[in-house]
Amino acid sequence: MEFITFKQDENLRKICSYLGQSPETFSHNTLRYLEINEWIADASDEWGKRLEDILNESVDPPVLLGICLLSVVTNDSVITDAFLNLVVVGKGDCPNCGDDLERFEDGGYGKTWEVERCSCGYYHSTEPAWDESYEDV
Ligand SMILES: [Zn+2]
Repeated sequence: MEFITFKQDENLRKICSYLGQSPETFSHNTLRYLEINEWIADASDEWGKRLEDILNESVDPPVLLGICLLSVVTNDSVITDAFLNLVVVGKGDCPNCGDDLERFEDGGYGKTWEVERCSCGYYHSTEPAWDESYEDV
C-alpha cells in the first residue's frame, strides 16, 4: 500500500474500535486484501472515493458476498455502513483526498497570506476578510 490508505474519520474509528485494531493495521490489511483480489488499485485514481463506490465498479460477485458476510458476522448494520463509507485517500496532507497540497504565498493591498490548494478542488486561504473600503482602492 504505497499510495492509498483510509481517511481518518468516524467510520474508521467505529470499525477499529469494533475490531480492536489500530487504524494502521486495519487499513493496511484491508486494502492489501482488496488489492490482492484486484478490487482496488494502489493508485491515485482512487483518492477521495468511498469504498462502496470503488467496489461497485467491480461487478465481481465475491465482493457482494463479502459485504453480506460482513453484515452477518457483525450483525450490526452500523459497522457495515461504516465499512462501505470508508474513504480511500492518498498519504499527503489534503484533508479531502490525501494528495500533496500546493502551498504558496499570495498577497494584495500591502498584505500577504498563505494559500493551500489541491487538484481535487480543496482550497484554503488565510486571506483576511476585506471590508468594503478596500474594494474601491
Ligand atoms: Zn485534495
